[in-house]
Amino acid sequence: MSVLKVNEMFETIQGEGFYTGLPAIFIRLQGCPVGCPWCDTKHTWTLDPAFQTDTQQVLAKTSDSEQYFSADEHKLLSLFEQQQYHARHVVITGGEPAMYDLIPLTSLLIDKGYCVQIETSGTFEIQAHPDTWVTLSPKVDMKGGYDVLDQPLKLANEIKHPVAMQKHIDELDTLLARPVTNPEAMVYLQPISQQRRATELAVNTCINRNWRLSLQTHKFIGID
Ligand code: SF4
Repeated sequence: MSVLKVNEMFETIQGEGFYTGLPAIFIRLQGCPVGCPWCDTKHTWTLDPAFQTDTQQVLAKTSDSEQYFSADEHKLLSLFEQQQYHARHVVITGGEPAMYDLIPLTSLLIDKGYCVQIETSGTFEIQAHPDTWVTLSPKVDMKGGYDVLDQPLKLANEIKHPVAMQKHIDELDTLLARPVTNPEAMVYLQPISQQRRATELAVNTCINRNWRLSLQTHKFIGID
């Protein structure tokens, strides 16, 4: 059993990377010390107990806030039924979900027939069922001072790199050159915040390198 702090849980369509377009239950965990300046989930950074509240209040949230509830894997699974979710794909995101021991949750969900995906910055070792799909969105040289570790690079099924300028491509090249990096991992470039120059750079680089483009499609259609 493992207690997780949950900032949000909702059903939507996965908007990014390999599983784009697939209905999914998102579990957004609270807490992240990485400090990306362009982070669009800054409300998940704090782990202040003052923001702990009850489950229903968190599930009813209509805007971003630091409020979270605590639950183990069995409670989360029972909430899937209570919320009448339909999706068979679960995305565990954050914040930085690899700060938590995700073995109990991922094992229970996989045992119940769900496909499970974790989205991580690669700055913490991943503790999850071996069949968990690992989406590594590596965060290099961020304010928090964390390094991208070997273990997430080894486990990555896809490496989805946020880009705005050439130095981000160079960082990715350095990560891909590390001997531990999974050579089978699919490589995606994702323009930061849909900026025009970032998008042009990502498109041109994907064409030149035969990499894939990931767009935050949920933002284009105005859903979470
Ligand atoms: S790792 Fe993710 S949640 Fe943490 S600061 Fe960076 S973008 Fe935000």
